Amino acid sequence: MKIWDAIVVGAGPAGCAAAYDLARAGREVLLLDRAEFPRQKACAGGLTTKTVQALRYPVDPVIRQRLKSIRIERDGDHSTVLRRSSDYCFMTVRKELDDYCFRQTVAAGAQFQRIGSISAIAEDDSGVTVSIDGEQFHARYLIGADGVHSRVRQLTHRENDKWFWRAFALEANVPMPDASSQELVFDFGCIRDGYGWIFPKGDHINIGLYSYAPDEKIDRARLADYIAARYGDVTAEDVIGQYAGFGAAQHTISATKIFLVGDAGGFVDPLTGEGIYFALVSGQAAAEAILSALHSKVPAHVSFAQNTAKLRADLAITTSGARWFYGNLDRGYRFLSMPLLRGMAVRAFALGANLSSLAMRVRKLAAVRSYGRSDRDSLLN
Ligand SMILES: Cc1cc2nc3c(=O)[nH]c(=O)nc-3n(C[C@H](O)[C@H](O)[C@H](O)COP(=O)(O)OP(=O)(O)OC[C@H]3O[C@@H](n4cnc5c(N)ncnc54)[C@H](O)[C@@H]3O)c2cc1C
Repeated sequence: MKIWDAIVVGAGPAGCAAAYDLARAGREVLLLDRAEFPRQKACAGGLTTKTVQALRYPVDPVIRQRLKSIRIERDGDHSTVLRRSSDYCFMTVRKELDDYCFRQTVAAGAQFQRIGSISAIAEDDSGVTVSIDGEQFHARYLIGADGVHSRVRQLTHRENDKWFWRAFALEANVPMPDASSQELVFDFGCIRDGYGWIFPKGDHINIGLYSYAPDEKIDRARLADYIAARYGDVTAEDVIGQYAGFGAAQHTISATKIFLVGDAGGFVDPLTGEGIYFALVSGQAAAEAILSALHSKVPAHVSFAQNTAKLRADLAITTSGARWFYGNLDRGYRFLSMPLLRGMAVRAFALGANLSSLAMRVRKLAAVRSYGRSDRDSLLN
């Protein structure tokens, strides 16, 4: 009976990040996905600088466009531009990015197998057994990286997934010969608890609607109206929607040999809807935990909890930040218009810089607004 060091279910960014590190460390890793690559995934394909830095290899071959600024709009009335002197965001097409990462992972030594339906997952002292279409696969550890509707989560965290919630986003591509001259736009106020986005990608723009509120209705008609309001009578192609998974910050990690990463584990930022960075880093954290458990006596789940502590703390801040920002958009927009906070927000979003210090400053600023400018200046310095 073959016993793999790890089985990874799902070969998206989270699964490939985990499998890549395990394979590079010389471990035997089986990567499973129900799809054949390249495969479609609803996603705007925007990568922040911190995401590109988190990847283990350059992704230049699949970058369509680089941008140094982001335009933040508010109901079409006001707008403010967040700028950096160097590249801020990198635009990819998800199908191309994922296929590229998948190939890097297989080249690193992960063994890929396309699978049907997972019927059972059993854990015992020696490891984990995954039953798929009458066949059984054994490993010391299992990583569930199978996206928002994770079968691994359903089978292994059924009693305990109150922490998890999901919300929807819908997108389309609009062919546009001069797309490279378009700005990257986040349009707040056009939807409750979310935004409309425009991501330029050379020969087309990707345009969509996101809300982290589970009950906000986003459908084709609403997206078509939004596109028509911005661009008039244009052709929208590849309309595709998907849920994103949230809640990692509220999850107490207790499973000892089975780890949920990426959307499966709720590693998406509700404030921005960003998920690829969190998928990569949570996948890498699971790989690191397994590698250290295979070398030492530290249990993998203890290391996984430690390795993801900062990530989950950041997501706790952005979860409160989403409530704060979308709960009173006038206030949120006013704060974002202040140069100091804008600079910190740029660094936090693009580079992953200190979110807790940004949150602390926002809290202080909010606290002193009623007292006056001199108090505010002294508190901020
Ligand atoms: C419309 C939209 C736009 C977005 N835009 C952005 C963006 O611009 N930037 C950003 O950072 N994030 C964005 N996100 C979030 C981002 O797409 C996700 O957070 C990210 O894809 C999570 O990666 P993952 O590897 O966890 O899951 P996925 O990318 O969903 O990969 C999961 C994999 O598991 C496989 N799988 C699923 N079920 C099974 C099963 N039962 N058995 C075997 N395999 C299975 C799937 O085939 C898939 O390959 C967006 C999300 C949406 C919905």
